[in-house]
Amino acid sequence: MKAFTYQRANSTTQAAAAAIQSGAKIIAGGTNLLDLMKLQVETPSQLIDINRLPLDKIEETPDGGLRIGALVRNSDLAADPRVRQRYSVLSRALLAGASAQLRNKATTGGNLLQRTRCYYFYDITKPCNKRSPGSGCAALAGFNRIHAILGASDHCIATHPSDMAVAMRALDANVETVDRQGETKVIPIAEFHRLPGNTPEIETSLKAGEIITAVRLPPPPPGVQVYRKVRDRASYAFALVSVAAIIDGTRGRVRSARLAFGGLALKPWRSLQAEQRLASAPANTAAFNSAADAVLEGARGFGGNDFKLPLTRRTLHSVLAETTRT
Ligand code: SF4
Repeated sequence: MKAFTYQRANSTTQAAAAAIQSGAKIIAGGTNLLDLMKLQVETPSQLIDINRLPLDKIEETPDGGLRIGALVRNSDLAADPRVRQRYSVLSRALLAGASAQLRNKATTGGNLLQRTRCYYFYDITKPCNKRSPGSGCAALAGFNRIHAILGASDHCIATHPSDMAVAMRALDANVETVDRQGETKVIPIAEFHRLPGNTPEIETSLKAGEIITAVRLPPPPPGVQVYRKVRDRASYAFALVSVAAIIDGTRGRVRSARLAFGGLALKPWRSLQAEQRLASAPANTAAFNSAADAVLEGARGFGGNDFKLPLTRRTLHSVLAETTRT
C-alpha cells in the first residue's frame, strides 16, 4: 500500500476544504476505500477522517420525514424503529447488503459513494476506463455476468452495488451536501449517481470538495413496501437484480406504484413509465408484463449477463404478485 498522511477533520467545512487537495480522500467507515487502497486501485496521499463529526443522528423533519446523518451506520439505520415502521423497504435493503460486521462500520454517505464491484476495475493489470480513463473496458468482451443491461455505454458497463441507494431511489430521497465555503445543497437522489456515458470516471454529481452531510427522506408514501434481492448466494453477495417496490392498491387493483431496480445499471434504475402502466390498472399478468416491458425498454445484454433480462421480468412479476395479493 502506498504511504499516506492522516488528518482528523474538526468540521464539515474543514473536511471539504481538505478534500479538494490533490490526492486527498475522505474516510468514514472505510469498508470500500481500504479494500481499494490495498489493491492500489485508490492511492491517496492524504486521508481525512470525518468519523468524529456530528453527523450520526437520525432526526424527524417538520414535514413528517427523516433526516439521516451521513455518518449513521448502516446497522443503526436498519434497526431504527422509525425506519423499520415507516420505511421498511430501506431497512430491508440495508439488511440485504454486505455482512453484519460491514454494516456496523459502513455509513450512509459512504454507501452512496461506494464504487462498482466490476472485477476488472479491481484488477490494475486490466484496462478499465473508470479506473484509468481511455484505457478501454475489459468487461465488454470479458466476463460480464454482474454487469449492466440498462444505461450502459461503449466506455463502461458497470453496475452500482448499493442496495440502500435503490430503496432511497424508490423513496425519492434527497442528498444534502456542504462545500468548503459552508454552502449547502440538496441533490435529488435521481440526479446524484451518473450513467457512464463517455466519462465513466465521473460517478456522481458531487463537485470537488463537496461532501455529503445527510440524506433526507420525504414522508413515506402509502402502500406495501418490499425489497427483493436476487443474487448468487443467500448472503454477502451483490444483487444480480433487485427491486424496491412500494405498491398501493386494493381488491386486485393498483392505485399507485413506485419501482426502483438494482443490479441493472450504474445507478438505481427507476422506470416512471412502468409505474404509470401499473397505476389504476388491474393487478394481473397483462399489467405486470406491460410494466416489465417498460422497465426493459432499451435493455441490452453483453453475453454473460443476458440472463438479467428474463430475470428482471420474473423478479418484478413475483414482487407485484406478492404486493397485490390481497
Ligand atoms: Fe472498468 Fe466499467 Fe469496463 Fe468495468 S465495466 S472494466 S468498471 S470501464
